[in-house]
Amino acid sequence: MRRATLSGLLVVAWSAGVAPGAGADAPSWFTADVVRTDGRWTADGSRIVTAVTLRTSDGRDLVVSQVGGHAAGYTMVVWHGEPLLEPGMRARVAAHRGATAWIVDDVIALDGGVATPSVRTVTRKSGTPLYWAKSCAQIVHAQEGTTGVAGETEHAVIADALATWNTATAACSFLDLVDRGAQDREVGRDFVNVIKFRDDRWCRPAVDDDPERCFNAQAAGVTTVTFVDDPDDQRDGEIVDADIELNNVNFRITVDGQGSGGAPCAADLANTLVHELGHLLGLEHSCRNSGDPERVDHAGAAVPLCANTTDAIITEATMYPFQQCGETKKASVEADDVQAICASHPLTDDPGACEAPDELGGGCCGAATGGSGPLAQGLGLGLAVVVGLSARRRRPAPRRSPARP
Ligand SMILES: [Zn+2]
Repeated sequence: MRRATLSGLLVVAWSAGVAPGAGADAPSWFTADVVRTDGRWTADGSRIVTAVTLRTSDGRDLVVSQVGGHAAGYTMVVWHGEPLLEPGMRARVAAHRGATAWIVDDVIALDGGVATPSVRTVTRKSGTPLYWAKSCAQIVHAQEGTTGVAGETEHAVIADALATWNTATAACSFLDLVDRGAQDREVGRDFVNVIKFRDDRWCRPAVDDDPERCFNAQAAGVTTVTFVDDPDDQRDGEIVDADIELNNVNFRITVDGQGSGGAPCAADLANTLVHELGHLLGLEHSCRNSGDPERVDHAGAAVPLCANTTDAIITEATMYPFQQCGETKKASVEADDVQAICASHPLTDDPGACEAPDELGGGCCGAATGGSGPLAQGLGLGLAVVVGLSARRRRPAPRRSPARP
């Protein structure tokens, strides 16, 4: 019965632009995923209205109109009205046929839609969520790859991981991860985003005025994000460089279960990489480790301590900070991840330029004095070393938190 109602609604919805009904019909309910939102101000400037593209379980799209949403740098929310439909959300939606569009009457967000709250990394000073200012983040693979998997397999897995994010967010976000292929590159703030394997030492090599820096042996990967951290700068929160390093020393990096490293604990490459790319994109963990500052998710709810939660919506998330040996479940991107990227980089705000971030005024590194810390501070740059995906080999070990920078 409900099925028949749904089909009828869809057929009429598609023809509504041709022959809109004269009056309002009774609301119909249906279940759908939100794939895109396009907000605009009405001509009189009094309200934002949003055209919401919904996709039903059989893959058909229809557009409904909701009051409120995002447009031209503003968000309009109707408290005690129905929740805003946001990309990545699954909902029961009631709508009726208005004179020119299908009008939303009610929304009930469903569990299993935005199953996991999304959390974004924020600047240390102003708490501004991090973002990419250009249409893309360009990714380079360090050309030597890894000796841990056969042939050039790792480069194909990297390409697949980038495509996983791009495909999942394509309907609602402008941000693309662009694969620039293999280059001879080391990690560092050079406005080039590198994926680097560590086969011999789980360390970043020394530079002229700074020694080798080794990482927590329990981390299968780390992502280093450099962003503008200056509340007085209009670029506050902009990511300028993000590099990923992968641990084939304390872990055995594998593809389809195969890897020649000597460590007993397998770290599936796609599993680790899709999680680390989440950090590169500006996402935070789904729960806090002890010592992490308090933070909130996209809905304003407090993010719990990992040690205090067994809630599957937290522990099954792509951005959960622990993995089991051989785990593969983080190799996919879920609705909460899509919501986070599409809310922060919506299609409607596409800057239309895929290029490396601009350097901040004043340049960098000309002075021979001081280490990277003071120099970076002087430039208003914040440096966040996000240590990702620690091993969790037995039962959850709440006290064994990943290393902090
Ligand atoms: Zn992580």
